[in-house]
Amino acid sequence: MDPVADLLSYIDASPTPYHAVAESARRLQSAGYARLEESETWQLSVGERGYCVRGDGSLVAFEIGGEAPGDAGFRIVGAHTDSPNLRLKPVCDVSAHGYRQWAVETYGGLLLHTWLDRDLSLAGRVSLETDAGPRVELVDFPGAGLRVPSLAIHLNREIRSEGLKLDPQRHAAPLAGLDGLPALQDLLARELRARGVAGAAPERILAFDLMLYDPQPASRLGLDGSFVSAPRLDNLASCHAAVSALAGCAGRGAEFTRAIVLYDHEEVGSRSATGAAGTFLLDTLERCVAGFKGGEAQGLARARARSMLISADMAHAVHPGYAEKHDPGHRPVIGGGPVI
Ligand SMILES: [Zn+2]
Repeated sequence: MDPVADLLSYIDASPTPYHAVAESARRLQSAGYARLEESETWQLSVGERGYCVRGDGSLVAFEIGGEAPGDAGFRIVGAHTDSPNLRLKPVCDVSAHGYRQWAVETYGGLLLHTWLDRDLSLAGRVSLETDAGPRVELVDFPGAGLRVPSLAIHLNREIRSEGLKLDPQRHAAPLAGLDGLPALQDLLARELRARGVAGAAPERILAFDLMLYDPQPASRLGLDGSFVSAPRLDNLASCHAAVSALAGCAGRGAEFTRAIVLYDHEEVGSRSATGAAGTFLLDTLERCVAGFKGGEAQGLARARARSMLISADMAHAVHPGYAEKHDPGHRPVIGGGPVI
């Protein structure tokens, strides 16, 4: 498949970090990577391909090399699955002035004005109480028809002299419909039942983590198709590159152990159990070392000394109207390859 078309389909399948991990796992599985649970004992051998998920939003995948990691090290690409967006608050149904809105919180350093006056949809994960214990389901409402409307110019003449001023608490809540709409929990339960989750009732929904996203399909842009127009390129483009690289060289043995790590929570500082400041990668590498022929003395420290990790993220291309924002001698060049 054309790599650009493949990137676009990956982004469209990944409206949230949870969906990005699910889509990455699906692609890795079809390349022979088996899911491993952190709570189980792993038996690893040469050429073994596996991946594990933490917190639904972070993923580590690896292919064990031909030599012990202590002798050949790891080659790792790191990227992040999250992007700035608007997320529903736990108590989110708001009724006022005849409308139903959903209260939202900003996540990461988002530009709020880019969320105004466009079609928005809703996706995320829902925790459900079942007879077999709590269960997490991914949900997506691609045709949700939500919108954060801006104020008409007739009621906001000052905007021309003072610019747009937005208060996230008052101005970012999307319109869901007219007042009288069922509560969010009812909508979620109905959606889960439609997806075949038996017994999904509003009172059995324990929690949700839902976010807004732009449902317009990712596409090529420009008369000659030179550009990609897509949300969440930071950093799904690097996640896609990492997954594609690891899946693409599956089974092509190397001495070193290949790995990728896709982290959630980069946009809010990484300081979480599933973020880059947590133990997820190191825990997994340690198990790769220990699982190789029963492990070896000082194996992890030796492996780390022989390893390399590329932290892959997006660089800002030069904006033709703001070229002075870049150092004149160190500007990224469009089509010029990776920015180091
Ligand atoms: Zn980034």
